[in-house]
Amino acid sequence: MPFSQTFDAELINAAVGRLPYYDAPDVRAAARAPGLTLQGAAPLFSPAAAGMLEELAQQAHDLTVARFGKTIALYAPLYLSNECVCTCTYCGFSLGLDIKRRTLRIDEVIREARALRSQSLRNILIVSAEHPKFVSAPYLAQCVREVKSVAQYVGLEVAAAGSDEYSDYAAAGCDGVVLYQETYHPQTYAEHHLGGPKKKYHWRLDAPERAAGAGIKHLGIAALLGLADWRFEALSLVSHLRYLERHCWKSQINISFPRINQAEGGYKPIHPVSDAELVQLICAFRIAAPSAGIVLSTRESAQLRDRLVALGVTHMSAGSRTEPGGYSEPGSAGEQFHLEDQRSVERVAQRLRELGYDPVFKDWENMQFQATTLAAIK
Ligand code: SF4
Repeated sequence: MPFSQTFDAELINAAVGRLPYYDAPDVRAAARAPGLTLQGAAPLFSPAAAGMLEELAQQAHDLTVARFGKTIALYAPLYLSNECVCTCTYCGFSLGLDIKRRTLRIDEVIREARALRSQSLRNILIVSAEHPKFVSAPYLAQCVREVKSVAQYVGLEVAAAGSDEYSDYAAAGCDGVVLYQETYHPQTYAEHHLGGPKKKYHWRLDAPERAAGAGIKHLGIAALLGLADWRFEALSLVSHLRYLERHCWKSQINISFPRINQAEGGYKPIHPVSDAELVQLICAFRIAAPSAGIVLSTRESAQLRDRLVALGVTHMSAGSRTEPGGYSEPGSAGEQFHLEDQRSVERVAQRLRELGYDPVFKDWENMQFQATTLAAIK
């Protein structure tokens, strides 16, 4: 049964309603033996847990170091197109906004990938707006193939696709699919996705499992924080993560916590998430799901990212641009949203070293494999 048929928003609402009643002993019990269930993990997202952040942060740090070591995998997005047939209230690419539109030709895609490679990046996330004519499945497969000849790891963050398309992407060399549900709250989803194929909430909800079924080895899921109550999104993510870990066990699952940033169109989040709430989210997920990768993008400021590194993060973007052609021709097209951390890849890597972490430019899984192999040889 697909996730969309098991997901029950009313059940999540009821669990959110119980959160104020948990106390410190409940939080400590959940932190000792959390389990990736609504009941097991819920206290970690409660107001009581918000008052215990230092304790939770220490545990999250220890779990991360034990499981992943002091390494952070670096990646960058490569935007293909900002031409979009969808109307999403929060997005700078939304249909009808007056921005410079552009879709990269294949030679321009290769030039962008090489620009990233020249900064040592080998982990590239291909990103695109949704336009069936300009950003077709064959075009995407060809982009994956070309970028893969330059990079070691290629992910796709594009329109939700069918199983056949995901099979084509996998055959082209796609390693991972990132698909944010944006909001798990069905009514809120309808209010913010006003036109275009992205209106289909259930089609999107089941896309990660279609990708896994087609052989994609890494899945990325998230809610876009700011659209609905973050605690509803968090408990929904717990449910989704649990489902994927059980049904798509051949795939590594990453989660992230993107907060809405300033974008063309001027959307203001209805449910803003504070820095302290973001810290609680990261710590709670690290404790509840110790093997999940946690991704932190340049949406957040350099100062905050430096502080969050130690809590549970395993992957960070660096030197990012959010417009097509942004690495070789900056400013030649409109950006999706404004980025807070504007540091270069080298500066981010240097800062990680100063904090005692190793920046990793190759795929995380391979690094784990190398570590395991080396340990076996010794
Ligand atoms: S969120 Fe995606 S689908 Fe929606 S307008 Fe932006 S690029 Fe298009």
